[in-house]
Amino acid sequence: MSEEQLSFQAEVSRLLDIVAHSLYSNKEIFLRELISNASDACDKLRYLAVTDGDLMKDDPDFRIDLEIDSNANTLTISDNGIGMNRQELIDNLGTIARSGTSAFMEQMESSKDGSNLIGQFGVGFYSSYMVADKVSVTSRRAGEDQGWQWDSDGKGKFTIAEVEKPGRGTSITLHLKEEQKEYSEELRLRTIIKTYSDHIPIPIRLKKAPEKNEDGSIENNGDWETLNSASAIWTRSKSDVTDEQYKEFYHHVAHAYDDPWLREHFRVEGVLEYSGLLYIPGSKPFDLFHPDRKHGVKLYVRRVFITDDCQELIPAYMRFLKGVIDSEDLPLNISREMLQDNPMLRKIRGGIVKRVLGILDKKAENEQEEYLKFWENFGSVLKEGLYEDLPQKDALLKLCRFKSIKTDSWISLADYLENMKEGQEHIYYISGEDEQALRRSPQIEGFKAKDVDVLVLHDPVDEFWVTSVNEYEGKGFKSVTRGGADLNKIDSADDKDDSSKDKEEDKAELGALLGYMKLTLEGEVKDIRSSERLTDSAVCLVADEGDMDIHLERILRSHKQ
Ligand code: ADP
Ligand code: MG
Repeated sequence: MSEEQLSFQAEVSRLLDIVAHSLYSNKEIFLRELISNASDACDKLRYLAVTDGDLMKDDPDFRIDLEIDSNANTLTISDNGIGMNRQELIDNLGTIARSGTSAFMEQMESSKDGSNLIGQFGVGFYSSYMVADKVSVTSRRAGEDQGWQWDSDGKGKFTIAEVEKPGRGTSITLHLKEEQKEYSEELRLRTIIKTYSDHIPIPIRLKKAPEKNEDGSIENNGDWETLNSASAIWTRSKSDVTDEQYKEFYHHVAHAYDDPWLREHFRVEGVLEYSGLLYIPGSKPFDLFHPDRKHGVKLYVRRVFITDDCQELIPAYMRFLKGVIDSEDLPLNISREMLQDNPMLRKIRGGIVKRVLGILDKKAENEQEEYLKFWENFGSVLKEGLYEDLPQKDALLKLCRFKSIKTDSWISLADYLENMKEGQEHIYYISGEDEQALRRSPQIEGFKAKDVDVLVLHDPVDEFWVTSVNEYEGKGFKSVTRGGADLNKIDSADDKDDSSKDKEEDKAELGALLGYMKLTLEGEVKDIRSSERLTDSAVCLVADEGDMDIHLERILRSHKQ
């Protein structure tokens, strides 16, 4: 049997070094990670077997088995899921394939003690090296005959060799560090599984050590004890699930380790039947704007996992949602291609959108402080819906919160409308990248003087919706940089103090000045006008009515359009 030695990708070596020497106190989470992988592996096979029944007909019942050998100080976790062949072992366990792990590495660089980050990000398979100084993986891919063994002490290299493996699936043996012996104790494992993995819908079994009676006879011959409830959590009734169990399921399904901001467990009956367990994270995932992100909402059909990458299920502007949707109506053998343009799926999606908007609306109304936490994390994403999902535009605008020149906190458009001045016909905004710079901009001086509020739009996405959304409750949006910003139509107490005689005298001088400036700047600007909009600054640039907004023009120019 030939054995090959290969090197870890440099990043993996670095990660393993951090993990092995981590002082992270919550080391038991390694088991949650390995069980989670085993469960994913079973899900993947169950999906493939829908179209290729042969893949699992010799061994149709999934299980995850734990075995301990206290003499050898090892713990083995075995599954009969999809398994891995040689190349998959190399790719999956030798490189950093997950964006989550790369984000962990990035954060590590910038923090002194990254230990806590391990729990926050979950470093997956590699977390085994918190408790083990050597790990052996034997695996056989379903449908293939050859088994493979992967071995590594986590110090830069691993070996791969052919091995006899009777059934499909993966078996991971941890050679526990001396000081981590506790993970070969039955009681300890029972507690960990109950805490973190109870929701896994596959039986997790522990092989009980044979006990010798006093007379030398053997009490049990290695019976199996099931440690978890082994039913899909979303199929249970709410009263049967504890908050802790909901939270652990979120950690599993979202690959996130914060506390969810919201959870929604529901069942829809009628023409279309589906159930769901959805979460909104309590913190902003690092990959919210990565184009290749996955791990959003998993689609199941009658408890069979179909995909975790179904773009038709959840609109992009709700990509902060995590969890599962389980349909009773879609055909089980639906291929991932068939999911595109599926009318049933489109209806489910519509139902989810309505439900989520409804929940957010209620929160915004009843728990304003709480709602702002959501808004600060995901407002930018939700605003994409303003131009992607026009039918929901009004519902979305109602949920939007903005900064404005009059306040540092968030206001809604309803708040803005309530504070409009006599004669004010538009919702004014100023847009750009830097909130503080916008607040200092000369463009808003006239508005300030007239006590007219201006929304400060400093989120890049604002540029896109504000030009396509025409109005809210009959009031149009208008940039302060547009020419003729109608300030003189708006009443203001200060105005009345201006004596008209002074104004007349100023006018003549101003005319001369404007003439001189036009001559000097000819070709550089379209026109030079006197304006009501400035009070402290001498001049500012404005866009003409009908021309592009200045900030938008800058953005486009920087993209060479
Ligand atoms: P993640 O689970 O987030 O992808 P992990 O580090 O936990 O990251 O695992 C890396 C990859 O290794 C998995 O995506 C999977 O392809 C593979 N893998 C790990 N454990 C198993 C297993 N028990 N059976 C099959 N594949 C596995
Ligand atoms: Mg994993």
